Amino acid sequence: MRQSQFTDMDPNERHGYNRLRPYRNQMVWHINDLCNMACSYCFFPTGAKDPPHVGQLTPQQISDAIDATGMQWALFIGGGEPTLYPDFIELVNLIKQKHFIQISTNLVSRTTRDLAEQVTPENIININASSHMMMHTPKSLGRFLENYHLFKDKGFNITVSYVAHPSMLGRMRADFEFLRSNGVEAVIPLSYQGMYEDRRYPASYTADEARLIREFVHEPLELLVTLDRMNFKGRMCKAGMSYFMMDTKGDVCRCATIPEAMGNMYDGTFRPRHESVPCPMDKCMDACFGIVSQVAEPEVPEIGAATKVALWDRIKGMFASK
Ligand code: SF4
Ligand code: SF4
Repeated sequence: MRQSQFTDMDPNERHGYNRLRPYRNQMVWHINDLCNMACSYCFFPTGAKDPPHVGQLTPQQISDAIDATGMQWALFIGGGEPTLYPDFIELVNLIKQKHFIQISTNLVSRTTRDLAEQVTPENIININASSHMMMHTPKSLGRFLENYHLFKDKGFNITVSYVAHPSMLGRMRADFEFLRSNGVEAVIPLSYQGMYEDRRYPASYTADEARLIREFVHEPLELLVTLDRMNFKGRMCKAGMSYFMMDTKGDVCRCATIPEAMGNMYDGTFRPRHESVPCPMDKCMDACFGIVSQVAEPEVPEIGAATKVALWDRIKGMFASK
């Protein structure tokens, strides 16, 4: 087994948002739209193909463009299914020579196994494996678990996430037990943010549903999403200064919530701000990344004294390095 740079960390730290804290410059990178699955709750239309510009630049051209910013990056790569991006393994191996990478993947694309075998864990922050349990056949679920253990045994920090979509809540407990009984170390519920049956979530979770999700949340800050408390209006945020969102064209904007243009990574026009500015939004959709980017401590929701104390301790710890 290969030693990863994260094996000394507490599992809650390794799989929680704190793992992102050491990385000064953070970019959520929506690299492609193409996917091998068709989840009913996906943001993308079923069968979405990549637009023609995807894959036009070589891995070397992309890597050079990222280096040319003069910044060392933590790149959170997602899609679509990013492992289907052309020459993805070559791209990862080039970029990780100077930067850090997290990959969000469904773990069952045709190239997943190659990724585990041809990339080493150094400078890979995390493999975020989305479980999408209702989409799996017994065969694909077997492949999911096999690939999970392949990454784990090779020393990658790997976390399984579970979208707490309203349609999944009836089976969520059994799914978590199944994954854990098959050797999955950490399963992280992600509260659903979107519409379902004419209701907006997470605001429409019932008290029982929110309680169920909270039972499985390791990460205190994820509770802010579950409880629909992602309002940081007026608080100083580093989005636009050292946290950004980049799309498939290389266009960079302030964050996933605010489409304010910050230039293009590939044509050399990307320009970050020099200072943090207050958030103007009533609702932050950047979940883990946005909240970690804030300069000021976020409000802790009133959710019971013991939980509140625990939350404060964790949140203060997160901001102690400021
Ligand atoms: S795996 Fe992700 S990108 Fe692919 S269909 Fe499911 S939710 Fe969408
Ligand atoms: S708090 Fe969220 S919405 Fe506001 S600027 Fe930061 S990342 Fe963007």
